[in-house]
Amino acid sequence: GADVLEDARTTYELDRRHVFHSWSAQAELDPMTIVGAEGSYIWDGTGRRLLDFSSQLVYTNIGHQHPAVVEAIQRQAADLCTVAPQHANAARSRAAQLIAERTPGDLDQIFFTNGGADAVEHAVRMARLHTGRYKVLSRYRSYHGGTDTAINLTGDPRRWPNDYGSSGAVHFFGPFLYRSAFHSTSEEEESARALEHLEQTVRLEGPETIAAIVLESIPGTAGIMIPPVSYMQGVRELCDRHGIMFIADEVMAGFGRTGRWFAIEHFDVVPDLLTFAKGVTSGYVPLGGVAISRRIGETFDHRPYPGGLTYSGHPLAAAAAVATIEAMEAEGIVENARRIGEEVIGPRLREMQQRHPSIGEVRGAGVFWAVELVKDPVTREPLAPYGGSSPDMAAVLAECKALGLLPFANFNRIHVVPPCTITEAEARAGLDILDRALETADAAVAG
Ligand code: PLP
Repeated sequence: GADVLEDARTTYELDRRHVFHSWSAQAELDPMTIVGAEGSYIWDGTGRRLLDFSSQLVYTNIGHQHPAVVEAIQRQAADLCTVAPQHANAARSRAAQLIAERTPGDLDQIFFTNGGADAVEHAVRMARLHTGRYKVLSRYRSYHGGTDTAINLTGDPRRWPNDYGSSGAVHFFGPFLYRSAFHSTSEEEESARALEHLEQTVRLEGPETIAAIVLESIPGTAGIMIPPVSYMQGVRELCDRHGIMFIADEVMAGFGRTGRWFAIEHFDVVPDLLTFAKGVTSGYVPLGGVAISRRIGETFDHRPYPGGLTYSGHPLAAAAAVATIEAMEAEGIVENARRIGEEVIGPRLREMQQRHPSIGEVRGAGVFWAVELVKDPVTREPLAPYGGSSPDMAAVLAECKALGLLPFANFNRIHVVPPCTITEAEARAGLDILDRALETADAAVAG
């Protein structure tokens, strides 16, 4: 009613006066106010309902306000809000067990953090201490977080203003056939050439200086480029040959997003360290962490790990993780993500690609899809330049919102990343909106 609208206006005004937002020029912001959410939907400050095809920042994997998780957080709050990290606690022990049971191979010890970036920071620190080496290799077209080491490992423009030249990060090109750095014309060629390029990078940087290679199992914000199985297995083999630790960053791709518990399962590869956050609690309470293999765990059996944080394994977050994982298991949420991807999103996006000249490529798995928009399907000129936006791109996004869909976008791409719980009917409704909105983009296509 009128009260809600009035409150939303106050919220907006206070936000503009006092809230300093991530990654933004503060005076140029116009944030959407969100006053409520349930399942796959959110309500904005004008009382309008939008279908959340962004899962916020790709993390509400069980949808908004899942009753079992809300209740578990309430129960934990009533029982015991907090204990310091040096003590044992039921919620933390159980969360670590449930995560360790689902991570691949012998990744059976869990170090909890507050989010994804600090998970990456700690994974890198563990790899450095374990190997006694300093450099870390990561790919261009990646995102690993906003803190110092994580942002310098990141391969996108957000790194540039944060690079003071002392991070130890070295970037290489990963496989991405649609915009191949290797002039490849097939997936096999791209995989082989990208591996050869990485091999040369390792050789020329000096293998004995490299602590780790960190890769998103499937790069997320950078474009959901699914690497070839042979590539990921080749990276594992390369790491083994040179004593380099393989860190799989599953912050975005983990916890059901790709139709598996972890995206690394698509490649039958066991990393030495695995970072997670986001989906582990669906973001209801902030939580991240590192799953640690025995090999690296051994290093810290009798040598103190020089790192920690006040809220490591915070009971409210741990209780949210336990309830999230149990709900995902009980309700077949990972299987739902896989089925929706295979039966609804994938086929429909491929069909749309036939009709929309603005769609250059669609790719993805589960509820993790990218629609790459172009001005020209032959030259593949993107609808917005790398690192930027464009009036054409802004127009498509505005049209999605006007039609009731909250999209996730990066540069020239729209990502279809709804909750893993999305129903077939909701997925179809959202794709219908995207289909209509893309007519705006088609108008920008040359010829
Ligand atoms: N790693 C990946 C792959 C991510 O997608 C993100 C966030 O989007 C991060 C790390 C950083 O996580 P956080 O924002 O929780 O620090």
